[in-house]
Amino acid sequence: MTTARQWRLVARPKGEPRPSDFELAEVEVPAPEDGQLLVRNLVMSVDPYMRGRMNDTRSYVPPYALGGPLDGGAVGEVVQSRAEGYAPGDVVLHGLGWRDYAVGPAKGFKVIDTDAAPAQAYLGVLGMPGLTAYAGLFAVAGMREGETVFVSGAAGAVGSLVGQLAKLRGATVVGSAGSAAKVEWLTRDLGLDAAFDYHAAPVAQQLEKAAPEGIDVYFDNVGGEHLEAAIGSLKVHGRAVICGMISQYNATEPSPAPRNLGMIVGKRLRIEGLLVRDHAGLQAEFVREVAPALAYGKIQVRETVVEGLENAPAAFLGLLRGENTGKMLVRIG
Ligand code: NDP
Repeated sequence: MTTARQWRLVARPKGEPRPSDFELAEVEVPAPEDGQLLVRNLVMSVDPYMRGRMNDTRSYVPPYALGGPLDGGAVGEVVQSRAEGYAPGDVVLHGLGWRDYAVGPAKGFKVIDTDAAPAQAYLGVLGMPGLTAYAGLFAVAGMREGETVFVSGAAGAVGSLVGQLAKLRGATVVGSAGSAAKVEWLTRDLGLDAAFDYHAAPVAQQLEKAAPEGIDVYFDNVGGEHLEAAIGSLKVHGRAVICGMISQYNATEPSPAPRNLGMIVGKRLRIEGLLVRDHAGLQAEFVREVAPALAYGKIQVRETVVEGLENAPAAFLGLLRGENTGKMLVRIG
């Protein structure tokens, strides 16, 4: 038995989650059985989709059980292995975050190469958020050289890669983000052609100024007013990839925007939802393109790292409030 800590959801949030919706429990983790591993977590991810799983509603992933442990992406070190192909010291990617020790069947744990990239990169740029950006931009939107791309949430984990990949493949890129410091990072360091702080003035007005000829592709991380502005700005036969709608995740009432869906007809727009899990087949191609770009400094990465498992809910709340630049992570080990 190993004594471990794990976060549980003890109340379903209404609107913005509160610290009292979470509880840190102490549990005894059993020794691994045949075919299982015991892993000490080093770093875990907090992701916007976790907010949806806190609601008791049907979705593409089941809700978290009330009183049960939270889970999500994490990287850890194998402490004990009773499975072939895994040895103590191996670093593994898995889905049992929000706890300091995890035990489970080996098939849920993937050994990662920490010589090729730092462990936490597999939770961000080389992991699920990275593949989301790649699949959305190229497989769903079919972005082509010379096009103009608008990405919202542009300074986040997914958005910062969308902007850079689009630039690398020859697009003109406009990004929106929630602060002047983020906007400066986007234009000065990541090389976006234009960026704006969506708090500073109406999104439609700022987008019109940044892309007066209109946009070909919109990569939506935000929904609401951003989506309305993008529909207004998309050219005939433009495409919008709906990756997420973070402006709605804490909302208690439906958003009035977008109010201009009628434009989809006249402009013959294609608006398509994206789920990263449908694009696992692109993983190898994605790593082949992104890993060298990362190694040669053609792609830049920022992480916002919160220290300590005890601060995981604060990190999650901070993510929803925009306290992160790049990937939001919690260092456990
Ligand atoms: P981010 O790293 O982008 O973090 C979330 C960001 O959202 C915050 O930093 C904040 O930045 C922004 N935000 C919060 N509230 C608002 C608001 N009201 N209006 C505008 N921006 C807001 O997270 P990820 O990169 O992990 O995820 C980005 C999006 O992609 C999310 O919508 C997520 O649900 C979605 N996603 C979808 C996947 C799929 O398969 N469909 C897979 C992975 C992610 P700021 O300071 O700019 O406000």
